Amino acid sequence: MSKPKRLILILGDQLDLQSAALQDFNFETDEIIMIESVNEAQYVWSHKAKIALFLSAMRHFAKALKDLQYPLVYIKESSLSIADTLKERIQKQGTQQLVCVEPGEYRLKVAIERLSQELGIDLDMREDNHFYCTHQEFTQWVANKKELRLEYFYRLMRKTHQILVDADGNPEAGQWNFDQDNRKPYPKKGPGLIDKPLSFTHDAITKEVLDFVSKTYKDHPGSLDAFDWPVTREQALEALDYFVEYRLRNFGVYQDAMWTDTPFGWHSILSSSMNLKLLNPREVVDAVLIAWKKYSLDLATVEGFIRQILGWREFVRGMYCLDMPQMAQDNHYKHTNKLPSWYWNGKTKMACMKDAIGQTLHYGYAHHIQRLMVTGNFALLAEVLPSEVCDWYLAIYVDAIEWVELPNTAGMALFANGGRFTSKPYIASGAYIKRMSNYCNDCKYKPDVRFGENACPVTTLYWNFLIKHRNQFEASPRTRLMTANLKRISDEDQQSITIHAKKILNNLDVI
Ligand SMILES: Cc1cc2nc3c(=O)[nH]c(=O)nc-3n(C[C@H](O)[C@H](O)[C@H](O)COP(=O)(O)OP(=O)(O)OC[C@H]3O[C@@H](n4cnc5c(N)ncnc54)[C@H](O)[C@@H]3O)c2cc1C
Ligand code: SF4
Repeated sequence: MSKPKRLILILGDQLDLQSAALQDFNFETDEIIMIESVNEAQYVWSHKAKIALFLSAMRHFAKALKDLQYPLVYIKESSLSIADTLKERIQKQGTQQLVCVEPGEYRLKVAIERLSQELGIDLDMREDNHFYCTHQEFTQWVANKKELRLEYFYRLMRKTHQILVDADGNPEAGQWNFDQDNRKPYPKKGPGLIDKPLSFTHDAITKEVLDFVSKTYKDHPGSLDAFDWPVTREQALEALDYFVEYRLRNFGVYQDAMWTDTPFGWHSILSSSMNLKLLNPREVVDAVLIAWKKYSLDLATVEGFIRQILGWREFVRGMYCLDMPQMAQDNHYKHTNKLPSWYWNGKTKMACMKDAIGQTLHYGYAHHIQRLMVTGNFALLAEVLPSEVCDWYLAIYVDAIEWVELPNTAGMALFANGGRFTSKPYIASGAYIKRMSNYCNDCKYKPDVRFGENACPVTTLYWNFLIKHRNQFEASPRTRLMTANLKRISDEDQQSITIHAKKILNNLDVI
């Protein structure tokens, strides 16, 4: 073959044979490039399992491409950034056009655009057809909206894609939302028997990657001991089938519940497969709809699950594309604290944080409420600089890619954008954690004590936050109710809370 004219870039989270980048592939003139860049693993201090998942999935995808006779250049362990590695290849080959799907990280998108300008080559950056909602549709929806709220976007998506609606666009069973049936704690005795997630044996590629990561990134956080993620499309499909058959039935009711030694609960654990594009969200939603009828599942669980994919996943992606790069800089409360060091090793006396962070380090996974209401809630109440918190989430979860991580962390958990798409900050005291888990049973701290030696740091910081921002909360009808309970706390106790909170905030590393 003469020198290829077009270079098709496939990034580590674009592992889809149906990708827009491959739609018009010409076997005579095109060449695919995939790049393992050390830089990508290190620009945030990534969890070992996250690095291993990306590398194993990429190498398996490369094998699939080769099996299909695609001409592929696969660059292993490049010490250069993705853009610089590309540059070398383009210059060497005299490539005329670079084709890719829009990267899921703004940073990479800009780097590739700059590269094409610098080299004076044509860039064909295509919209990612993985998502239900196009940029244009999202921008249209946003136009003239006073408030950007998931609920209305989600209803539009349901109607547009004819999911759980009748021919007139009315919701199945007359209701858009079944939250009141969902989101219960586990029974007092505990979660009982939960069907375990599907397990996968490591093939030669994965074994090699695990060995490589454990040696090369040995000082990175987290463990590889429990590495059990789908690394191919076939495995991802198996995981989906297994989930809808065995674990979906209790997803809705217990989606917010937490319990020690119950890292996955009834959750799907499909985010990494979807985010790597091994699975398409449409096939996930379709599988859930089929399972609903086949296994006579509750509509509440089915709707609750579909809302996460068709609603939240699409919504946060739309917000990311709309609000970057501002989203990464927002700091509504002007918080400046450093992230406590125990976020990286789990060594804290707070049982809730220890469990959520401990399982995160072990698996690279925690479920939504652990991320939002345990680690996220604490980071907000502890007044941590949003960019430090976002870097932690991006580094530590196997499913973390900036388009989904950042809006969830900065926008939802930290309220860093001042409520652009949430009505009020998601904050809670230890009472919420006590209600939704068994964490408080064996904790050194007491969830209902607001100050003093045994006071729960979450509770102290929660009331401190309300006291500090009282005027702001009371000025807005959306947040006025949040401070209602403050009236029941005497001025003297409020002072003690403030003093105790200062002590905690000055000693975050040792609580
Ligand atoms: C602070 C914070 C950071 C987060 N970071 C990420 C991240 O980096 N990557 C990521 O995929 N999700 C992230 N989420 C969203 C959510 O927590 C994860 O998608 C979910 O925990 C993944 O586990 P699961 O596959 O078992 O999900 P399930 O609970 O089974 O939900 C099903 C699917 O719905 C989607 N979903 C659910 N909630 C959300 C949401 N809020 N936003 C987008 N998609 C959602 C996911 O694709 C998920 O696989 C974050 C949430 C918070 C609060
Ligand atoms: S008492 Fe407070 S710190 Fe301890 S587990 Fe409960 S909420 Fe967490």
